Amino acid sequence: MPKIPDCNHCLLSAHDPHIVCAVHPEGVEGDSCLDFREDPNTSVEELWLPQGASYYNGELILQPRQHWTQQQQLELLDWHPLFTGRCPQCGAEYERDYTSRVHWDCPNPECGWLDDTV
Ligand SMILES: [Zn+2]
Repeated sequence: MPKIPDCNHCLLSAHDPHIVCAVHPEGVEGDSCLDFREDPNTSVEELWLPQGASYYNGELILQPRQHWTQQQQLELLDWHPLFTGRCPQCGAEYERDYTSRVHWDCPNPECGWLDDTV
């Protein structure tokens, strides 16, 4: 199928594996098309997006539910009790089996830190 790069963001593109576009069902010769119409609603990013992924602030996020940038995820290593074993607010130590915990609310009742990252 002689599809050209412009087809991916052309208003006339059929977006069909068997037809290139409404005007040229079998594609065009060369690398440009006289009938090319820019489609304002279609970005190249959307077309190349892997399934289940999404763009968030320009970062490709593979798990849509987790809207953290890589930087935020790295910072989490420095303070989250899952990695440090300590409350980020008062420094109270979690119990030894803390790696099997699901909720990370502070064990110190006077602190009251609640984990809102999960
Ligand atoms: Zn605490």
